[in-house]
Amino acid sequence: MKFGRFIAEDHEYYGMVEGPGLRVIEGDLFSEYVFTGQVLPVDSVQLLAPVKPTKIIGVGLNYKKVATAKGVPFPEVPILFLKPPSSIIGPSEPIIVPEVVTQPIFEVEIAVVIGKKTKNISLDSAIQSIFGYTLCNDVTAKDHMPKGQPWARGKSFDTFTPLGPWLVTELEPEAIDLSLHVNGIQKQNDTTSDMIFTIRQLVVFISSIMTLEPGDVILTGTPQGGGAFTKGDVIELFSSQIGRMNNPTQ
Ligand code: ZN
Repeated sequence: MKFGRFIAEDHEYYGMVEGPGLRVIEGDLFSEYVFTGQVLPVDSVQLLAPVKPTKIIGVGLNYKKVATAKGVPFPEVPILFLKPPSSIIGPSEPIIVPEVVTQPIFEVEIAVVIGKKTKNISLDSAIQSIFGYTLCNDVTAKDHMPKGQPWARGKSFDTFTPLGPWLVTELEPEAIDLSLHVNGIQKQNDTTSDMIFTIRQLVVFISSIMTLEPGDVILTGTPQGGGAFTKGDVIELFSSQIGRMNNPTQ
């Protein structure tokens, strides 16, 4: 199933995507909801980021080809960092690069969306904690990440976490494709099969540290090819299973 969050007539709704239409939902997507009977054309609404998480957990260096290209060993445990929910934007919204940022970087990633309260989950049960998947650009200010210091500053600028377009359920987590184009030129293209820690392993590890809440987001690392962009570029994220999303930069 494919869900979207959107604004119509000044209200925020969830809808289920069916062809060119969105079946409007009332209630809580993560527990109980009903269909109102209303169907809106996808083209007629303003899409929002598909979730409002209490936290966004990022994972650094999680693709084998990236570690190999850098000539560094695979991490023994996942490298975690946090991004604030205030950095989230949705489809078509601009990534705003402040004057103080001179080295903005794009990173396409699969964002795992948690479906239920989760703590100390086992590997066998991890999949049951996942509601679905969406795309993310883990925008990073490389010049605000001095060596040996925490990554919070470089990861946390407003608009540095575009999420969308759809929240898609029931995907096989080890076989999701993801790619990124800058101004129509392909920069990244891989699948989650190249991950060092699988999505299930990440959910297990993170839930051993913190309680995950419905709607929380795990950014699972970027594949080979993440790199610099310039203000004015248009960045497109794509997955054949999740959809396509464009964000201008300014
Ligand atoms: Zn990242």
